[in-house]
Amino acid sequence: MEIQMERQMKKIAILGSTGSIGTQTLEIVRANPELRVLALAAGGNVELMEEQIREFRPLVAGMWSEEAAADLRGRVADLPVKVVSGMEGLLEIAVLEDVEVLVTAIVGMIGIRPTIAAIEAGKDIALANKETLVCAGHIIMPLARKRHVAILPVDSEHSAIFQSLNGEPAERVEKILLTASGGPFRGRTKAELANIQVEDALKHPNWAMGRKITIDSSTMVNKGLEVMEAKWLFDVGLDRIQVVVHPQSIIHSAVQYVDGAIMAQLGMPDMKLPIQYALFYPDRRPMDGRRVDLFELAQLTFEKPDMEVFVGLRLAYEAAKAGGSMPTVYNAANERAVGLFLDRKISYPEITGLIEECMNAHHVIEEPSVEQILAAEQEAYDLICSRRN
Ligand code: NDP
Repeated sequence: MEIQMERQMKKIAILGSTGSIGTQTLEIVRANPELRVLALAAGGNVELMEEQIREFRPLVAGMWSEEAAADLRGRVADLPVKVVSGMEGLLEIAVLEDVEVLVTAIVGMIGIRPTIAAIEAGKDIALANKETLVCAGHIIMPLARKRHVAILPVDSEHSAIFQSLNGEPAERVEKILLTASGGPFRGRTKAELANIQVEDALKHPNWAMGRKITIDSSTMVNKGLEVMEAKWLFDVGLDRIQVVVHPQSIIHSAVQYVDGAIMAQLGMPDMKLPIQYALFYPDRRPMDGRRVDLFELAQLTFEKPDMEVFVGLRLAYEAAKAGGSMPTVYNAANERAVGLFLDRKISYPEITGLIEECMNAHHVIEEPSVEQILAAEQEAYDLICSRRN
C-alpha cells in the first residue's frame, strides 16, 4: 500500500517559491497531497522561505546570496534541510535526484542555466519564467525534444493555447489568437501615457501579479514577450500569432485551425488553473474556485491592439523578427528600464524609449550561446547605465 502511494506521488521543485507564481504553486501543493516538494529556491525573502520549509519540508532550499543562505541555515538548524546558495545552488536544485517536474517561477534571465540543466537531467519543466524562452528558445526547445522532456506552459495564455491544441500538430494550426487584457491604459492616447505614475501602472484591471510583470502588462511588453514565448513553444511563425485585446480576460487564448474552427480555453483570471494543469498534465484534476458564469458575463469583446500607442508590442515583433540575440536585448533593456521606472528615476514613456535605443544600437548575433546571451544582456544594461550618467 505504501509503495503504491509512493508511486502516485509527484515530486517537484520550485525556483522562485516566494513569488507570486511560487506561492500559488504551493497553494496547489497544499490542496493536492499527492504532490511532494523536494526543493525550493528564492532570492532574498528568508522569512517566507523559513515558513515554507517548516510547512513543506523540502530536502534542499536555496537563497541567492550566501548571506541570506547563512541566515536561513541558522533559522532552520532544527530541520534536516540542506541550504544552498547562488547559481550553484539553483543548478543543484535543478538536477536534484527524484524531482520529476521543475517549476521555473523565478524572474529574469537567471532562469536560463537552471532550466537547461534540468532538461539535460531529464526533468519536465513547468515554465513560468518566460524570459528563458524569449532569450534561449533556440537552445531550450531542441534540447527538450532531444531529451524527451515536456515544456509545460504555466503562463495562462500559453496554457490556454496548449489546452486548445490538445496534441494537434503545428501544421493544422492556421493562427494563434493570443489574448491580452489591454492593461489599465487601454484606449489611451500617446500623450495621455506621458504622465503615468508608478501607482497607476501597478493597478492591473484583472490579474494580481508580481510588480515587474504588472508594469510589463501595462506597457504591453508582457504581451510582446508572450508572442516570442508562443513562437518557441508552439513552433509557429510570427505572422501566425495574432494579439487580440479582450478586456474581460475570460478567453485566455485560442487556436484557429486550417478548417476555420477556433478552439479556446475560457476561465476566471486565476493562475492556479494553469499551474495545476501543468503539474498534473495530461490529467485534469478538480479545483475549487469561482466559475465563469456566461449569463452574468453577457458579452465578451475584442479589439485590435494599438501598436502606435503601445510601442512595446511593435518593438517585440521587430525583435522577434530580427531574432538571434535581439530578443535578449529587448528583454534586458525592458528589465532595467522597468526597474528605473519603479524607482521613479525615469518617466513611463522612457521604458519603451530605452528598449528602442538599445535595439537600435545592437548588432544581432545569430543562434547565440548562453555566454553570448548573457553578454547581450550586459550590453543593454551598460548602455542604459551610460545614458543615466
Ligand atoms: P515575483 O517577483 O512575484 O517572484 C519572483 C521570484 O523569483 C521570487 O520568489 C524571488 O525571490 C525569486 N528570485 C528573484 N531573483 C532570484 C534569484 N537571483 N535567485 C533565486 N530566486 C530569485 O514574480 P512572478 O511570480 O510574478 O513571476 C515569475 C515569473 O513568472 C516571471 O518570469 C513572470 O514573467 C512569469 N509569469 C508570472 C505570472 C504571474 O501571474 N505572476 C503569469 C505568467 C508568467 P525573493 O522574493 O525571495 O527575492
